[in-house]
Amino acid sequence: MLRIAHLYPKLLNIYGDGGNVLTLKKRCEWRGIGVNIDEINVGDSIVEHDIYFIGGGQDLQQIEVSKELQKHKEFLTAERDRGAVFLGICGGYQLMGHYYQPHEGDKLLGISLLDAYTVAGNKRFIGNVTAKTGYLTPDTLVGFENHSGLTYLQGETKPLGTMVVGNGNNGQDKTEGARFKNVFGTYMHGSFLPKNIHFADYMIELAIGEKLAPLDDEIEMIAHNSLIEKAY
Ligand code: GLN
Repeated sequence: MLRIAHLYPKLLNIYGDGGNVLTLKKRCEWRGIGVNIDEINVGDSIVEHDIYFIGGGQDLQQIEVSKELQKHKEFLTAERDRGAVFLGICGGYQLMGHYYQPHEGDKLLGISLLDAYTVAGNKRFIGNVTAKTGYLTPDTLVGFENHSGLTYLQGETKPLGTMVVGNGNNGQDKTEGARFKNVFGTYMHGSFLPKNIHFADYMIELAIGEKLAPLDDEIEMIAHNSLIEKAY
């Protein structure tokens, strides 16, 4: 039984980011792998899971999630270090780093699962994204970005991919997203995993520790390929 924790879906779930959890669920069930999804909301405790997902959202909702996440920082760091898989999208990704400094107000503390930090930029990046990974087949990841935060990676935290179309982490260093151990972050909404099912399978394989049987992904790959290098 694969255990998935969906963190703060009532606050961080913009642009259908919850579709990422549904993708993980269906791609397991289609292979006969049972899945249990726990929605973790403000005030809930968190126990061990195999995969943790946190979606994106506006600065206002990030303030509340930033405060709540601090209660679980030690536990989630230990989960990272034992090899649990994490995926954060945009606002959720930003809170997996050290902090997000919005335009106004105080710095929002993250939980430092990633050695990265985010500062609000003076323009909003909106549009399609294509990135190349160098470790997946196919090599591309596609999605849609809408953020003003500029994220900078440090130390052993490496990019999820390099930019082909779009702005990615900060529109300057050609990086998109981040990875450290089995923690992954990306600015790609869409939602992300239905259009990048090879990455969904990559996450599931990391979580269960074995290769997955292939599925008939003809339609999913038509969707993926239709977005490669699509600028508008
Ligand atoms: N509020 C953050 C920003 O604008 C994240 C936005 C989002 O999750 N789409 O950068």
